[in-house]
Amino acid sequence: MVMEAAQEWQKCTSIIFKFLELDSTDSAHINITFWRDEEVPPEFTPTGDYNGHWSLLRQFSSGRRPSINFNLVPLLNECEAPDITAQQKVLKMKFIRATILHEIGHALGFIHEQLRGDRDKAFKLNVEDIVTYYNT
Ligand SMILES: [Zn+2]
Repeated sequence: MVMEAAQEWQKCTSIIFKFLELDSTDSAHINITFWRDEEVPPEFTPTGDYNGHWSLLRQFSSGRRPSINFNLVPLLNECEAPDITAQQKVLKMKFIRATILHEIGHALGFIHEQLRGDRDKAFKLNVEDIVTYYNT
């Protein structure tokens, strides 16, 4: 799933990903782990803010081990739950794919839209619509 999502980035950028084996002696710009929250090593959590899915921004990401973490095991387990409906599974799989695309974007240097310096010129937040959406 991660490799497929990375290839999505290739379609809309000039980036070409080269996937290395774990035992490769080549150095990678982006290093990915799949730690669950309880598996994140304490030495990597100086701020205690490294649970879930995360990615370092490009300038901090390059060469770091890891630079992205996907906490996908719990989500994939939820997809295999006996009581999950087909529709719920499709939604969860779409969420996983979106998460992977999102975190790879951070590793490439993209920040959240709301953090853009020109945010107020680039787009207008309709706060009422957002509140309505999350309250329904
Ligand atoms: Zn993000």
